[in-house]
Amino acid sequence: MSEQTIPYKIYLKESEMPRHWYNVRADMKNKPAPLLNPKSLQPMTEEELSAVFCKELVKQELNDTDRLIDIPQEIRDFYKMYRPSPLVRAYCLEKQLDTPARIYYKFEGNNTSGSHKLNSAIAQAYYARNQGLRGVTTETGAGQWGTALSMACAYLGLDCQVYMVKVSYEQKPFRREVMRTYGAAVTPSPSSTTQVGQRILAEHPGTGGSLGCAISEAVEAASSQEGYRYVLGSVLNQVLLHQSVIGLETKAALDQYGIVPDIIIGCAGGGSNLGGLISPFMGEKLRGEKDYRFIAVEPASCPSLTRGKYVYDFCDTGKVCPLAKMYTLGSGFMPSPNHAGGLRYHGMNSTLSQLYHDGYMEAVSVEQSAVFAAATQFAKVEGILPAPESSHAIRVAMDEALKCRETGEAKTIVFGLTGTGYFDMVAYGKYNDGEMCDYIPTDEDLQRGLAGIPKFPGNKTAGL
Ligand SMILES: *Cc1c(COP(=O)(O)O)cnc(C)c1O
Repeated sequence: MSEQTIPYKIYLKESEMPRHWYNVRADMKNKPAPLLNPKSLQPMTEEELSAVFCKELVKQELNDTDRLIDIPQEIRDFYKMYRPSPLVRAYCLEKQLDTPARIYYKFEGNNTSGSHKLNSAIAQAYYARNQGLRGVTTETGAGQWGTALSMACAYLGLDCQVYMVKVSYEQKPFRREVMRTYGAAVTPSPSSTTQVGQRILAEHPGTGGSLGCAISEAVEAASSQEGYRYVLGSVLNQVLLHQSVIGLETKAALDQYGIVPDIIIGCAGGGSNLGGLISPFMGEKLRGEKDYRFIAVEPASCPSLTRGKYVYDFCDTGKVCPLAKMYTLGSGFMPSPNHAGGLRYHGMNSTLSQLYHDGYMEAVSVEQSAVFAAATQFAKVEGILPAPESSHAIRVAMDEALKCRETGEAKTIVFGLTGTGYFDMVAYGKYNDGEMCDYIPTDEDLQRGLAGIPKFPGNKTAGL
């Protein structure tokens, strides 16, 4: 196919949208390690997990064997309101970078939540509704997940209770108002409405909160109310599964034009968009059919893959959740208050952690001023104001394209543009005022978080 015939935007037809999610665990020889019960240190059973999570989602969480899982018709119909999402050829960015590289991005910001999170929110709300639940509880950091879940719950008639990290609650009043408009109850976390919140407030008075704290509160709220379950917008394998719709659409669009990517890049917070984007390609690599480079991009101020340890750790600050084996900075890790660029979770999805550990994926960390420089440059030529999180992927896609300018190679680069940044203007403002500083934690800083990782036998080999 000659260059000119590849359009700026490749849209699939509705009829070409995926009918199944793809479960990359089915193709992994080394499966991700199971979640453990923090008391018995035995793998969490379906029954134990069902006390906190919806039944069908627990099944998906534990399913390491089925390659394809049906997307129910009602979810597919909801997807049609904002999917298929476009795969965009970044001709303008290529021109500006004067690179022979071919750059594509999958844009997930075309819905009110402003991110890919709606892909999993609607699935999780659907299974909760089908189970006959009254409502769900969750945490939100920057607010995209809380917004997505509020939208999905409003659509399906479920109650939605969101614990929002206090600094975001205060800095992003409009995010909060969008959630309330969709009918959600939003509580700043840590709060005095839960026991774990009270405990955290007593230990850290005046804290602005963290995702780990808000998770603990949301879990407690779910288990203390009849007819409620807890849902999570990232980190879990079920979320990665739902997000595979991103990768499946990307692959279908590329296949229509016979395009084979060399490098696939995504930003990594808890790992769901990256995992979803790369899954079908990773499957080919795992099955020995094709080879690709996969790059996870994380902030230098919250470097779980590049500087964390691969061990069992708590998923939350209050230590009420199961233990997950993952790359982690310790559940007590809090990124520097100067960090404005999102992606601040201390751990990483266990499937991606295993793939990274086994050498199937690379990871790099980037500093936030370089991320905002990339975001600004991208916005000026491609028109979209990107979310700071997404801009981590833009940074590295641009860096790889600039390397191609040096070597003259015409590599094909695909990256995930996970969302828009309209609610992140405080962060953009700091960058525009030249007040954004880069903070890279020292080894001593990281040691404080790592010291909180539980010391049980399985973790000894990691030198803890
Ligand atoms: C939540 C979010 C991320 C990071 O979450 P992952 O689970 O790592 O994908 C990235 N970009 C946007 C826009 C988000 O809302």
